[in-house]
Amino acid sequence: MSHNHGVIRLQVSPAQIYVGRYEALPYPNLTPAQEFVFEVAILAAAPVTISDVLFQIYSGSQLLSERRRNGRSLARLIGEEFPVRVVPGEGLALRRCYFWEPGLEKLTQVFITVTARTEDGAEQQAAWGAPLLIYEQTVDLRLPFRDTWWTIMGNDWTDLHKGEPISQPFALDFARLGPDNGTFRGSGLALADHYSFGEPVLAPADGEVVILTADMPDNPPGTPPQLRDLREDPRRSFGNALFIAHNDHEFSFLAHLQAGSISVPTGATVARGQEIARCGNSGLSPGPHLHYHLQNGPNLYVDQGVPVQFGRFRVTGDVVERSAIPTRLIVTPVD
Ligand SMILES: [Zn+2]
Repeated sequence: MSHNHGVIRLQVSPAQIYVGRYEALPYPNLTPAQEFVFEVAILAAAPVTISDVLFQIYSGSQLLSERRRNGRSLARLIGEEFPVRVVPGEGLALRRCYFWEPGLEKLTQVFITVTARTEDGAEQQAAWGAPLLIYEQTVDLRLPFRDTWWTIMGNDWTDLHKGEPISQPFALDFARLGPDNGTFRGSGLALADHYSFGEPVLAPADGEVVILTADMPDNPPGTPPQLRDLREDPRRSFGNALFIAHNDHEFSFLAHLQAGSISVPTGATVARGQEIARCGNSGLSPGPHLHYHLQNGPNLYVDQGVPVQFGRFRVTGDVVERSAIPTRLIVTPVD
């Protein structure tokens, strides 16, 4: 739904935005809340300066909340000079427009209205509405490992994955904890120092394997991958990686797997809990860890990441039957 008048035009990505709902996070002092993230591109047919950006969140016809950025606060937010200018041929990207809404009221739409002035002082406005979708997960997922792991990044508000709002807004990164409650022994400079390195990676549910990449080396901790290994293909920043197709709309993505460890071929059918690879440090990864996200299709950066809940895991003694997993949570799957 859009009505764009003349000089400026908006594009919101993704076109449909999934909402992460946290009704019962196993986390102290956290009230129910919802979150979502998107990017806005502002395009102009003539030079303009932005005077105001308004975000409005609706539940049906009811306006639940709004957030306004005047030109000055917008400049601060995106690190541009004030006034923020948009010129033809060079759009302006508002990245990581992130919203955390208390409560569980059904969110249905976000409206973005941008007001700008042309060089002759004429006011211009463009608006865009994008639907907000609540995700109903159909696949029953187990955590893709054994023993106790620390959630470095969860599918929640603190997450750097949200800089990639199409495929990764609800991605998780896990590292295994050792007996000392750390993620590595000694200096951590060697791969073998890391408790995650070489740990079995398990299929989170039944499905069919699609290998994306299997030819990348493990990098020493703290070392970026070689450019020749990345081959200018952003997908290779995930290192050795695979999908498991659980059905026609839910695909588990597991990444940074150990070199040579993927033990199932593309097309293989795997069972929930089956070992499929080992945890590694391939691709763009600061140290051994397991990246996981759930997508609605098998194409990275094209299909969308969706909110994800795992079943049956222990958090400090209590068994959680099914929940999203926030950053910093320490989890132990219960088989
Ligand atoms: Zn990750």
